[in-house]
Amino acid sequence: MLPKSESLIPMLRSIRIGSRLAISFAALLGLLLVVAAVSLLRLSALTTVTQTIVDVQVRRVDLAHEANQHAQSAATHLLQLLQTADREKRIPLYAAMDAEIAALDAAIAKIDMDESSAQEGAQLARLNELRDTYDELFRTTVETIELEGTPQARQHFESKTQVALYALLKETSALSEREQRSMRNDLDLLKQAESGSRTLLVIIALGALVLGKTLAWVITRSIVDPVSEAVQVAENIAQGDLAQPVPVGQPDEMGKLLSSLGVMRDSIVSREERILKLAYEDGLTGLPNRTRFEESFAALPAGSFGAVVVLDIDRFALINNALGHPTGDLILRKIATRLGGVAPAPKLMVRLWADKFAFLLEHADKAAATEFADAVLAVLAHPITLDGQRLDVSGSLGIALYPQDGMESATVLRRAEMAIHFAKRRHIGFAFASEVGSEPAHENLSLIGEMREAMERDEFLVYYQPKLRFADNKISGAEALIRWKHPTRGLVPPIRFIPFAEQTGFIREITPWLIEQVIGHAAEWRRNGLDIIPSANLSTLDLLDPWLIEHISGLLVKHGLAPQQLCLEITESALMDQPELALKHLNELSALGLKLSIDDYGSGQASLAYLKTLPVNELKIDREFVTAVSSLPKNAAIVRSTILLCHELGLDVVAEGAETDEELAWLKGHHCDVVQGYGIAKPMSLEEFLPWASAFGAGRA
Ligand code: C2E
Ligand code: CA
Ligand code: CA
Repeated sequence: MLPKSESLIPMLRSIRIGSRLAISFAALLGLLLVVAAVSLLRLSALTTVTQTIVDVQVRRVDLAHEANQHAQSAATHLLQLLQTADREKRIPLYAAMDAEIAALDAAIAKIDMDESSAQEGAQLARLNELRDTYDELFRTTVETIELEGTPQARQHFESKTQVALYALLKETSALSEREQRSMRNDLDLLKQAESGSRTLLVIIALGALVLGKTLAWVITRSIVDPVSEAVQVAENIAQGDLAQPVPVGQPDEMGKLLSSLGVMRDSIVSREERILKLAYEDGLTGLPNRTRFEESFAALPAGSFGAVVVLDIDRFALINNALGHPTGDLILRKIATRLGGVAPAPKLMVRLWADKFAFLLEHADKAAATEFADAVLAVLAHPITLDGQRLDVSGSLGIALYPQDGMESATVLRRAEMAIHFAKRRHIGFAFASEVGSEPAHENLSLIGEMREAMERDEFLVYYQPKLRFADNKISGAEALIRWKHPTRGLVPPIRFIPFAEQTGFIREITPWLIEQVIGHAAEWRRNGLDIIPSANLSTLDLLDPWLIEHISGLLVKHGLAPQQLCLEITESALMDQPELALKHLNELSALGLKLSIDDYGSGQASLAYLKTLPVNELKIDREFVTAVSSLPKNAAIVRSTILLCHELGLDVVAEGAETDEELAWLKGHHCDVVQGYGIAKPMSLEEFLPWASAFGAGRA
């Protein structure tokens, strides 16, 4: 049975479940009908036999019995006749006797009417013969009574008629017995037939039971198997195992379910791919993103070495501002395409964010990384054409080597980015992180924690570095530079804590404090008749802080200082973080009447054309260009042209970091307006500065 149903199931599965159920129910119903029909047939056969017994045999027995009775009654009446002498009294007896004889004839005729076997036929013929004989002798006896008298008649009756009567009675009894025997036979046959039918019905019912059970099992298997298959598929999907293929089902309902599960799996797969794409891909360039870089870097095998190169597009904020963000995006896409062509191809190239791209070079040493950086710079050297216009783009690269510079992506990226700033400041294209100096030492980290207490303990000091105006050789201004008088470390220079104050946001505490000091000092100087405009440095966070403007204007009023008597220095990089907001605040500060100065000009990427659009009064040329201005033709050219351009734009030029007499002479000779540097004086405490300025000759208010 089993192997048969094993081959039956696949065959069944090609039929729809609905049809399968319909077929099996129809089959079961059919079996039921067969059982019922067989039972009915058997029953009707039994009924026919019974009918025969009841209709034919019982009746014949009855009739034979009846005939026997009537024959006896007729004989009784004849005996009474023989004893009745009075003729008148014999008349009613004749009538009764005739009736009995007629009934006897009728009964025998009825027996005769039924179909009968040959044996029965012979018996019936004998019966008829005996009756005829008895009838004839009976009538002769009666005639003898009337003609010859009763004694004669009795003699005739006893010798002839009575003998014929006995023979007739014997024959009817024999017939009745015979019929009774045949009836018993038939009843036995009936019993046998009935028990045969019972066995047959039991066999058929058992067969139907086995067949029905098999059918139910096969149908159930044909439904349950694919259901379990579908459940397995659904569980696989639920557990995220999307690699398992969904089996192709039969063309039934389960097949449809399986194919729906397949569609579901496919759509989950494609959705997951889309999510992964969103998570790991940069939407603008289609390159992998920072997350991908971090994961790939983390997955590097232990003991591997190589380089992480970060590229920053120079002046990109400017391009974005000047040409609009859609153009900026277009340029970034073009740059990404170009970078894709750099050979040898890096293991991974990603866009970190904005205009920063990172490359992972596996097994690259310093020489290989240098070669790669040169290749990137070469690729960027060709101008980009936009709507027929040529645009020069350049980039600066920072290179961190792993494991030397770190083995965590955040560290390596940070160090590479520090190297970018180093490279930008020196205009050298690229720099290695190892050239930049190490991460903040533990000493510096503990300083970060101490800054808040330092503020409370009043450990910060303001130093002033004078600014000399060439035109009248007077001290026209002074830059306020912060110092930290640390109880154990002595005087800590700003470079050791300001960058961390900027990173931690603590600069928001320092700047307002310093400005209040500076405004207080400046007001004091004015009262003492000194015309010196102090300048304070603003960091990016300060420039983005809307509250600072309010704070400054409040302090100016409080100390009675005119806004024109305070200058704020802002580096161009401070403008780049959020250019719109920075420009808005710059405009507000300018509207207040404050003097504004661009600090460290030349170290960043801002063009003069861009700076021209800002509300500034002064430009400070970075120390880098002022150093050796008299001996380095390249520096001389930059400073000279900057002075010329600034004057054309109506800006004052301050040269920072002039140390030697030659530099001072060169600057004066090239019409630089103001100079600040060790060549004039180093930054001094307030106590030192005032007498120094008075002695040197400050502008008089
Ligand atoms: P900076 O604004 O460019 O300040 C000028 C720096 O150049 C000062 O260093 C000054 O001492 C130094 N310097 C001036 N002339 C010469 C020179 O002839 N030769 C050399 N080698 N150096 C010269 P300092 O005071 O160490 O300050 C360093 C930087 O710290 C400043 O650069 C400024 O960016 C920052 N800083 C100082 N005070 C503050 C402050 O109160 N707030 C903010 N946000 N930054 C400050
Ligand atoms: Ca400054
Ligand atoms: Ca400066």
